[in-house]
Amino acid sequence: MTHLENTAASPDPTTSTGSDGGPTASDARHGRPHDATAKRALAPDLRGADERTIRAWTEPMAVTPLGGGEYAVESASGTGHVVDLPAGRCSCPDHRIRGERCKHLRRVAIEVNRHELPPPGRLAGTCRVCGETRYLPEVGPALCDACRPEPGALVTDRETGDLLAVVRVTGDRADETTIEAAGTTVADYHNNAGYPRDDPVVEAVYPFSKGVGHPLSDLRRYQFPLSRLEARGERLVDAR
Ligand SMILES: [Zn+2]
Ligand SMILES: [Zn+2]
Repeated sequence: MTHLENTAASPDPTTSTGSDGGPTASDARHGRPHDATAKRALAPDLRGADERTIRAWTEPMAVTPLGGGEYAVESASGTGHVVDLPAGRCSCPDHRIRGERCKHLRRVAIEVNRHELPPPGRLAGTCRVCGETRYLPEVGPALCDACRPEPGALVTDRETGDLLAVVRVTGDRADETTIEAAGTTVADYHNNAGYPRDDPVVEAVYPFSKGVGHPLSDLRRYQFPLSRLEARGERLVDAR
């Protein structure tokens, strides 16, 4: 059974206050990148921590995301190592020779957890819809989480006022996607002329066209430029 759910932002579990000039809880909630290019130390309560943990927090290091889950870590001495976070690997001797979870690995994990670095699979970029700098998926259209409609998200067609449910964002451009039935591209289809030609294409259905509670997968899909669809802050749960 399909039913409605609000998609307002949920409370964020992070407790950072931003009083030290660091990222705020709001930054974290929105995945807002923090400038981590300068070599710097972090300053938590380290009572009872082991030596590698203390060094991970207190030594000045500059971490640069490389993409693909890899991060370059430069120490104050100028030595550089590459951490592969998903694989739990580092190029330094402490890890390669001694097999330790070294200070570089720990530092990258700490900064990712503090939302000061993008998690694996994301890189800082400009969201093409809201224009904010966010941690965006490495692949697919440059859309932040707030601007990327999830499957089942309800949207309003700005041209007709119709209610639609998103099935997926294809990641293809409107001017490179052909609507087979119309023999034209999404960008050139009538009513779409006013939207960016390079808009990501969204597949959507009229969710109640066959009655309430019908699986979305049974409904005919239509393609739209993303900007034509306005989010309503609601989505259909159990949408398939
Ligand atoms: Zn290391
Ligand atoms: Zn956005």
